[in-house]
Amino acid sequence: MDIELSMIEKIVRNVMEEMLNEKHQPKGENKLGVFKNMNDAVEAAWVAQREYSKYSLSKRGEIIKAIREELSKNVDAFAKLGVEETGMGRYEHKVLKHQLAIEKSPGVEDLKSEVNTGDGGLTLYEMSPFGVIGSIAPSTNPTETIICNTIGMLAAGNSVVFSPHPGGKKVSVLAVEIINKAIEKVNGPKNLVVTVKEPTIESTNVMLKHEKINMICATGGPGIVKIALSCGKKAIGAGAGNPPAVVDETADIKKAAKNIVDGCSFDNNLPCIAEKEVIVVDAVADELVDAMRKYHTFEIKDQETLKRLQKLVLTEKGTINKDFVGKNADYIMKQIGVTIDKDVKVIFAEVNKEHPFVLEELMMPILPIVRVKNIDEAIELGVQVEHGNRHTAIMHSKNVDNLTRFARAVQTTIFVKNAPSYAGIGYGAEGHTTFTIAGPTGEGLTSAKTFTRKRRCVLSEGFSIR
Ligand code: NAD
Repeated sequence: MDIELSMIEKIVRNVMEEMLNEKHQPKGENKLGVFKNMNDAVEAAWVAQREYSKYSLSKRGEIIKAIREELSKNVDAFAKLGVEETGMGRYEHKVLKHQLAIEKSPGVEDLKSEVNTGDGGLTLYEMSPFGVIGSIAPSTNPTETIICNTIGMLAAGNSVVFSPHPGGKKVSVLAVEIINKAIEKVNGPKNLVVTVKEPTIESTNVMLKHEKINMICATGGPGIVKIALSCGKKAIGAGAGNPPAVVDETADIKKAAKNIVDGCSFDNNLPCIAEKEVIVVDAVADELVDAMRKYHTFEIKDQETLKRLQKLVLTEKGTINKDFVGKNADYIMKQIGVTIDKDVKVIFAEVNKEHPFVLEELMMPILPIVRVKNIDEAIELGVQVEHGNRHTAIMHSKNVDNLTRFARAVQTTIFVKNAPSYAGIGYGAEGHTTFTIAGPTGEGLTSAKTFTRKRRCVLSEGFSIR
C-alpha cells in the first residue's frame, strides 16, 4: 500500500512539474526550439533576437563555438538519419558534408567593419543583424543547410526560423534541438533557432508573410526561389544548378577522369555544385572515356539500355523522377534489369548535346558525356547547358586562355579548375564552406556577413588623427 502511495505521489509530482515547466515555455514549444505552429515559432524567435541583440560579439562567438562542439558529436546521427529519412545520398559522404559545414562555415570573424577617415572626420561602416531570418532548406542537404545557415545567421546577430523540406523534417528537428541544447549550455537565449515539427507548404507560406520575419533565405529549386523573391521582403535566393565539366586537349586526362567521377558521385550527385554533364573535345574524348572506365564506373554503350534508363528516371513530361534522386548507381540499374557492382559510383554514357540527361538537373549518379569538335564549341555548349543559373562550372585544362575564356563566358558563382566540383565549397581546397550558394541574387557563397545590414555612422570633424 505504502509503495503504491509513493508511486502515485511521484506521478503527481512529475505531472505538476511538467505543467509548471509548460507555463514558462512559449506557446506550443517542445522546449528545444521545435513548435507545433509556425506563428508561435516566429514569435519566439523574435523574442529571442531582441534578447540576443544585447549580447556582446564575444558571447556570440562563445555560442557559435558551443554549437560547433555539440553538432560535431552528432555528425554520425545526422548522416545516418539523413540517408534513412530522405532515402537519398551516401552515409560516408554525408559525414564529410556535415564536418565541412561545422568546421568551415565562418563565424563572427567574418564581420569586418570598415572605416573612412579624412578632413571631414570619421565615418564607420558596421554590420548589423537583419533581425529574424526565415530560412528554407532543401531535401538534398537538409541538415548541412541548417548548420551553415545557423552559424552564419547567428554570428551576424540574427535569430532563425527554419522551414525544412517535409521529406527531411525528422533530421532537421534533431539538428534544431541539438543547436538549442548547445545554446542552453552556455546560457544563451532560448529559441534563437526554431522550426516546426510538421513543416508544410502552408507553414512556409505563413513564415514568408509573417510581419516579424525581416529576411528570407531560400535554398532550393527555381520554384521556391521565385516565391521567395516575390514575397516583398529582402530575400536571398540560392537556386538550382546544372554544372558542366569541360575538358580540353591540354588537360591531365587521368586526373580529369578521376576528379570528374569523384565530384559527380559525391553523395550520389545530390549537391547542386556536382558535375552534371561532361563536355570533352574530340581529340581527347576516347582517352577520357577510357580513363573513366577505371574509376568504379559503369558505361552504357547501347541505345536500348540508355532509352530504358531514360524512361525510368524521367517522367513522361520530361522532368526528373524524384524516386531516383540521390540513389546508388546499382539500385538505379537494377530497376531496368541490369546488375552491376555495388561499388560502382557513376553510370556514364556518350550522348548528343540535346539529350535530356544533359539538359535536366538529374541529381543522380548518371553522367552524360558530349563530344565536341573544339574548345569554341565546348565553351558555347557549356554556357548553353548551364542555363544561365550562374551556379557552378568546372574545367580541366592547362591552357590559361581557355580557362579564362570559359570562366568569362559562363559567369558562374563557382568556377573550379582542375579539381572535383566540391573544391568549390572548400573541400580539399581553400575557402570557406556553405551549402547556400546565392547565384540568382548575387551574394555568392553566403557567410555571416551576407546576413547583415550595412550601416554608416558618421562623426564630423573629429577622430581623424593623422
Ligand atoms: P525544392 O525546391 O523541391 O524544395 C526546397 C525547399 O522549398 C523545401 O523546403 C520545400 O519544402 C520548399 N518548397 C518547394 N516548393 C514550395 C512551395 N510551392 N511553397 C512553399 N515551399 C516550397 O528542392 P529540393 O528537391 O529539396 O532540393 C534540390 C534543389 O535545390 C535543386 O534544384 C538544387 O540545385 C537546389 N539547391 C541549391 C543550392 C544552392 O546553394 N544554390 C543548395 C542545395 C540545393
